Amino acid sequence: MATATAPKPKTAKAPKVKDQPLLIGGKWQDSVSGKTFATQNPATGETICQVAEGDKADVDLAVKAARKAFEEGPWSKMSGAERGRLINKLADLIEQHAEELAALESLDNGKPLRDSRAADLPLTIKCYRYYAGWADKVHGKTIPVEGPFFCYTRHEPVGVVGQIIPWNFPLLMQAWKWGPALATGCTIILKPAEQTPLTALKVGALAQEAGIPDGVINIIPGFGPTAGAAISGHMGIDKVAFTGEYTTGQIIMEAAARSNLKRVTLELGGKSPNVVFADADLDAAVEGAYFGLFFNQGQCCCAGSRLFVEDKIHEQFVDKMLKKARSRKVGDPFDEATEQGPQVSQEQYDRVMSFIDAGKKEGAKMLCGGNRVGNQGYYIEPTIFDGVTDNMKIAKEEIFGPVMNILRFKDIDEVIQRGNQTFYGLAAAVWTRDVAKAHRLASALRAGTVWINCYDVFDAAAPFGGFKMSGIGRELGEYALQNYTEVKTVYVNLA
Ligand code: NAP
Ligand code: MG
Repeated sequence: MATATAPKPKTAKAPKVKDQPLLIGGKWQDSVSGKTFATQNPATGETICQVAEGDKADVDLAVKAARKAFEEGPWSKMSGAERGRLINKLADLIEQHAEELAALESLDNGKPLRDSRAADLPLTIKCYRYYAGWADKVHGKTIPVEGPFFCYTRHEPVGVVGQIIPWNFPLLMQAWKWGPALATGCTIILKPAEQTPLTALKVGALAQEAGIPDGVINIIPGFGPTAGAAISGHMGIDKVAFTGEYTTGQIIMEAAARSNLKRVTLELGGKSPNVVFADADLDAAVEGAYFGLFFNQGQCCCAGSRLFVEDKIHEQFVDKMLKKARSRKVGDPFDEATEQGPQVSQEQYDRVMSFIDAGKKEGAKMLCGGNRVGNQGYYIEPTIFDGVTDNMKIAKEEIFGPVMNILRFKDIDEVIQRGNQTFYGLAAAVWTRDVAKAHRLASALRAGTVWINCYDVFDAAAPFGGFKMSGIGRELGEYALQNYTEVKTVYVNLA
């Protein structure tokens, strides 16, 4: 019999969810075609609910609503301060519904509830608050020009923006996109990922409750080649922002170019080098590399998926890492003890397993993992490959799963050269106690973010984005505002 001191079972319950409409011009409605699609629980493979499936006709309606809100609605006349107040209100409402949103995120995506609570929700709320603060601080300059002229610039909203987001951090990617768009006075058509539309729709309802006017935010769940393509090729959309795979980014950029040359920002994948020198704090490096790869089931664009370990400490490092990976708790996202949930979908599960096969075939040494966990849902054991070489498929392509690749190196010049030997350039990290070495790598590695003796540190105030084929433009921070504004130059004749 349980005693009074026995720990309480901490498993939270997955929420029940009704079928979901889409949001256009402040109205929740069915898609024009009447079609719906199922969104699944990756822990079981079961359908959670049906969601209205948007396509071109719905995007057309959303563009009309967003254009009207941009040009005629109360939004267009609102001061920056008032917009900031509404964005802050949205942040407050998200905070009030944090528990519900965390559960919904974990249900739809499969991420452990404790991660949704500790990472996704707080980062999302902080992102909205950060951009609420910017709303009344977006302004141009006065410029001393020749002649009897007064010259100034205005930073005006770019207009109607399309935003296409992935499934790995649904709430957070929505916040990264909505924050700067709302702060600058744009209006929005969002397409969430087909795998994870639920929290986006819930936040849409909270935005209405916050008082963000009808038509400012439109949400069109649906598929990439239909709803997504309708957004990127639309003549009435002024800018498209996308996060996902680089091949999709190429399709979107082409569609943008062939339609109206809409502005394009892309946040794409990575194959980020994480470099551990022999003089590093070994335990901290092991912990950071473990977190930097396995966090979020390995489904992070900035995952440290090429782990370069200096020869001298290779054995010690691998021993410690193996212990951690073997004891990682994989299971039900709603169990408080769970560290790793399922991959998001059957498609992603198959993709990750095919990389594991490729690693074995190419002669990398699998030290642990490699198997499915359980017999339902899309769970994969934390997997470590040692003896990985630069030309193996697992060292070159984005795996997006719990698969660690360990590569060895001898010296700093070699690791800089090999670290940069990729068409990606999203992130990099270095572990060393030598300040000069740390900064030499920070400067030499071609990546949008470099972490020194840490990994996966994010702050709404600091920009994030890619060099090379990891993207175009920066999200977060003041930098993101540039993607959502046009600069207008005004001359006044004073003569
Ligand atoms: P994806 O196809 O690039 O999907 C991202 C978003 O783009 C989704 O909303 C998707 O719609 C949409 N999309 C797809 N095709 C489109 C098109 N032709 N026009 C406009 N939008 C389109 O990525 P994925 O298939 O979900 O994942 C595949 C791989 O991409 C992963 O294994 C991973 O390597 C990488 N990935 C990277 C990130 C990142 O943050 N960098 C995030 C997710 C995935 P659907 O909902 O129909 O897919
Ligand atoms: Mg896809």
